[in-house]
Amino acid sequence: MSGREESTSRPYRGRIAPSPTGYLHLGHARTFWVAWSRARAAGGSVILRNDDLDRDRVRPEFVAAMEEDLRWFGLDWDEGPVAQSSRMPVYRGALEQLKAAGHVYPCTCSRKDILATVAAPHAGEEEPVYPGTCRLRRGDGLNHSRVVWRFRVPDREVIEFEDGMYGCQRFVSGRDFGDFVVWRHDEVPSYQLACAVDDGMLGITEVVRGEDLLASTARQILILHAMGWSVPRYQHCPLVRDENGMRLAKRHAALGLRELRRQGRSPESIRAGW
Ligand code: GLU
Ligand code: ZN
Repeated sequence: MSGREESTSRPYRGRIAPSPTGYLHLGHARTFWVAWSRARAAGGSVILRNDDLDRDRVRPEFVAAMEEDLRWFGLDWDEGPVAQSSRMPVYRGALEQLKAAGHVYPCTCSRKDILATVAAPHAGEEEPVYPGTCRLRRGDGLNHSRVVWRFRVPDREVIEFEDGMYGCQRFVSGRDFGDFVVWRHDEVPSYQLACAVDDGMLGITEVVRGEDLLASTARQILILHAMGWSVPRYQHCPLVRDENGMRLAKRHAALGLRELRRQGRSPESIRAGW
């Protein structure tokens, strides 16, 4: 199965998709700058997506700050912000379609791993390969408040895509990742589902994001195929790392865009340092 070049004839539509769970830092700025520049160079449009499904971590002040920081950095957008929290009926509809086609099944296994699935799995946060315990169980008669829905991945199928930065990428479903969560027991779609649905339905032609999401791309291609949508092109970007080689996170407050701006740094001088 491949996610290759199905979208070359469509006008470029890109997106930047921050999560308002903290302030944006240099790493976000660099990835979003690449995404924005590629869209503008192609004469295309940019959609700002607000990935705000992580109810426990999203804060309204981060939503406002994220727009302000993006604008300060020189980024603009033609559509959005499209808040994922406002699209629940769309995600529910996609789940129903996947159910009807037999692509997903209900699972009552432990909730521990599942709570994490609403956020994009960055380095070291991948879901463990699910052993398939609930695969063969019938869906009816289950207590629905405890059910999660998993995508049934094809057994040992190669999912291949050409990454604009990293070249040909190959993942084997059932080996590199297993049946993954698309819907949580608390009625929230997982990052994988929400992201694939939005990229598909909003007609995104190229996804630009951090390289730690390469393996998520393989899962999202499976969802896009199952839904009958065209697969965008992908361009993953190297992560910005600190002096110890760690990817930037909230603990790197000093590299936050707000802090750099407070110190009088200009967006141009930040970009000149890349
Ligand atoms: N909000 C997600 C993140 O911050 C977006 C990932 C993506 O671009 O698909 O990682
Ligand atoms: Zn299960």
